[in-house]
Amino acid sequence: MTEHFDNAKPGHVYLVGAGPGDPGLMTLRGAALVASAEAVLYDRLIGSSALNDVRADAIVEFAGKGPRGDSSKQEQIDARLIELARAGKSVVRLKGGDPLVFGRGGEEAAVLAAAGIPFEIVPGVTAGVAAAAYAGVPVTHRDHAAAVAFVTGHEDPNKPESSIDWPALAAFPGTLVFYMGVKNLPRISEQLIEAGRSADEPAAVVAQGTRADQQTVTGRLVDIPELAREAAIEPPALTVIGSVVEERQRIEWFERRPLFGRRVVVTRARAQAGTLAGRLRSLGAEVIESPAISVRFREDESVRAAIEQVSSFDLVAFTSVNGVRSFFTALSDAALDARALGGIEFATVGAATAEELRNHGVIADHLPDRAVSEGLLDLFGEVDLVGKRVLLAVASETRPVLGEGLVELGAEVHKVAFYDTIHEQLDDEQTAAVAEADFITFASGSAVHSLVSSIGGAEHLKAIPAVSIGPTTSAALREHGLEPAAEATRHEIDGLIDALLQIQ
Ligand code: SAH
Repeated sequence: MTEHFDNAKPGHVYLVGAGPGDPGLMTLRGAALVASAEAVLYDRLIGSSALNDVRADAIVEFAGKGPRGDSSKQEQIDARLIELARAGKSVVRLKGGDPLVFGRGGEEAAVLAAAGIPFEIVPGVTAGVAAAAYAGVPVTHRDHAAAVAFVTGHEDPNKPESSIDWPALAAFPGTLVFYMGVKNLPRISEQLIEAGRSADEPAAVVAQGTRADQQTVTGRLVDIPELAREAAIEPPALTVIGSVVEERQRIEWFERRPLFGRRVVVTRARAQAGTLAGRLRSLGAEVIESPAISVRFREDESVRAAIEQVSSFDLVAFTSVNGVRSFFTALSDAALDARALGGIEFATVGAATAEELRNHGVIADHLPDRAVSEGLLDLFGEVDLVGKRVLLAVASETRPVLGEGLVELGAEVHKVAFYDTIHEQLDDEQTAAVAEADFITFASGSAVHSLVSSIGGAEHLKAIPAVSIGPTTSAALREHGLEPAAEATRHEIDGLIDALLQIQ
C-alpha cells in the first residue's frame, strides 16, 4: 500500500466505542468520526455494518486480538496508532461496546498521552447494559437491585493469583454482569456459590446480544453453566446474575418480534434495498442483502431525443421508481426543468413510483389500484388515447404488455429505455448466505432472473420459500421451475412484507 502522509497537519486519535452490534447503537459522534476518518483501526467485536460509511480513500485495518489477546499484538497496535497520528492522519480506533470497559482503551489512551499525541475518547454503549436490555433484563431495578457490578470472567478463577475477590463479589448487594466468561462459567458459578451466593439466584446468558442472532438462556446460578452448554452458546456472550433476570418474563421484547431469528434475503438493486431491508430488520429479521441487480441510467441518443421533444408528449408513463429518477436526471442533464412538463399528463404503476414522482413535484394523473401494467391499461380503457403521443420511460428489459396495450388503444407510443438493470455476480460468501436463508423476497422479475443466474441455477433456490411481490414476479419464478410460497396481494413493499408475515 502506498500511503501519502501530510506532515504539516497534526494527527489526532479518537478512541471510539462502536456499541454492542446493532448498528443503531453507535453514537452520533462515533458515526460522524468513522465517516470522516482518514484511518480506521478496528476490533473484532464491532458490528458488521460499522464500517459501511468509511471514506473510500481511508486506510482501514483490522487491529483486534483474539479472546486471549497477546501483548506483542497490543504493542503493534499502539505503534501503528502513533505512526498514523504522527503522519498527520485523523485516526479512529474503533472498539466494540465502550472503549474503556474491558477494552484496553485506557491503556491505549495512556500510550498516546505519553507519546504526546492528541486524542479524544468517545464512549459507546457497553454490552453489559445493551445485551441485558435486549434480553429484557434491566441491570438495576427498584424492586431488585440498587447496584450493578461489571466483572471480567476471563480469568481462571482457580488460579491462586486471581485478582477477583470472590467473597466480596458473592456479598455484592446487586446485579453481577460477567463479560468474557462463557468458558469459565462453571467455575464462576461454583466460586460464587462456595463464597455464599445463593445457588437459586436467577441467571441469564446472553450471546450475540443486540444482533439478529441474539440467543438468551435463563436458569439459576447453579444450573446456568449446564444450560448454556446444552444451548451451545458461543462467544461473545455475557452472564447476568441477579433477581433482575425475573423481569425478562414481563418485558422481553427483542426476541418476540415477528421475524426474530429469520434470515431473509433481499434481492433488490442496492440503491433500493434500504427500505425493504430496514423494515424487515425492525421486525426482527436478519437481512441478507444480495444486490442482484444494479441500475445504470442511460444517456444515449434516444433518451436525449425523447427529452428534447418532451413538451410534445400528451402523456408520460412510468412503471418504476428508477424510470422516474432516470427521466428527471436526463431532464436536468438537458438543462430543462418542470416548466418543460406543463400540460403533460402523467401515469404511474405502483405507489412508490407515484411517490417518487411527487418528490419531483408532479402528482400522477393516472394511478391504478393494481400495481401492474395491466392495471394501468384497465384504467386507460376509459380514457380516449386515440392519436395521443405517449412516452414510456422504462428499463431496457421491460415487458411489452404496456406498450402493446397502449398501441391497441390507439396511442402513438414512444417506448424509450431510460435505464438498464445490470446483473451482478454474487461472491462465494453471499452465495452461501443465500443458500442458508429461511426466505427470499423478490420485488421484480429481473431480480428473479438475476439471482438464478448469479447463484448458478434455480436448483440452489428450490428449498428456500420465495415471496413474490406480484404476478409478473411469480411468473418469472415459474419460468425457472420455482413456485412462490406466497404472493403479495398489494404489489408493493408493504404488501410483500405482509405476505411474508403470513407464511412465516
Ligand atoms: N468493550 C466491550 C467489551 C469487550 S470484552 C464493551 O463495552 O461491551 C468482550 C466481551 O464483551 C465478550 O466476551 C462478551 O462478554 C461481551 N460482549 C461484547 N459484545 C457482546 C454482545 N453483542 N453480546 C454479548 N456479550 C458481548
